[in-house]
Amino acid sequence: MGRIIAVANQKGGVGKTTTAINLSACLAERGKKVLTIDTDPQGNTTSGLGVDKNNLAKTIYHFLLGEATLEECIIQNVIENLSLLPSNVNLSGAEIDLIGVEGREFILKKNIDKIKEEYDFIIIDCPPSLNILTVNAMTTADAVLVPIQCEYYALEGLTQLVHTINLVKQRLNPELKIEGVVFTMYDARTNLSLEVVENVKSNLRQNIYKTIIPRNVRLAEAPSHGLPINLYDTKSVGAESYRNLADEVIKKEMEPDEVQEYTERGR
Ligand code: ADP
Ligand code: MG
Repeated sequence: MGRIIAVANQKGGVGKTTTAINLSACLAERGKKVLTIDTDPQGNTTSGLGVDKNNLAKTIYHFLLGEATLEECIIQNVIENLSLLPSNVNLSGAEIDLIGVEGREFILKKNIDKIKEEYDFIIIDCPPSLNILTVNAMTTADAVLVPIQCEYYALEGLTQLVHTINLVKQRLNPELKIEGVVFTMYDARTNLSLEVVENVKSNLRQNIYKTIIPRNVRLAEAPSHGLPINLYDTKSVGAESYRNLADEVIKKEMEPDEVQEYTERGR
């Protein structure tokens, strides 16, 4: 059965899109059938997977507005084992367009439920805000994966994110869990990255992935070639680290009982 993971953090630039693309691609490389969903009007997941976002007849926007079916919008096998529900700038109007639409929090969920058996994993990249698109991702998801950038203020905004997740859990999706926190852009040359990891570990009590994603220039270059890291530079440390993350995610899928509740300690 398809496991649905939303990659969310309302902070921009923390590595959500990089993680959504490369986790998806590494799961696909492991032979898993993956659907990647881009819910960010920036469409960076779409272009990062080699799809021309400015030249799409049907995107997630048309689907959310009821103008096209999910099947019509999904692009099959953009790379082997990986299909994409694309997005582009059109989606920036969705928040307004959906005002007053009944059940607007559940549009994605209702339709994904019908096709989720076709995939092993559905990975949803969220926009950098807590809006109706993020809510749709969280009502659809089994779990949220939170990338945290190794920088000062890493914890800033996390209280808000936890609050949102808890609200969604209470009111819209009681089954929602925190899949875990993954540290991104770790720079082994600085003490700062290490301090951030230690600080977050001592302040937050939940699953933290053993895999830490290092800062790696190849990860930043890959999207401009429309390739995930495992295809752009298969031996890079970026590729290796996202493979390790994919393996952890696969392992967790098999041990769901290990997934703990996400609670904040002392904040
Ligand atoms: P978000 O989706 O949270 O806004 P992105 O994944 O787009 O964040 O990352 C922000 C920027 O940082 C992008 O330019 C991306 O290429 C770069 N980046 C992300 N992760 C890494 C990394 N591990 N090493 C180097 N650059 C990274
Ligand atoms: Mg992004």
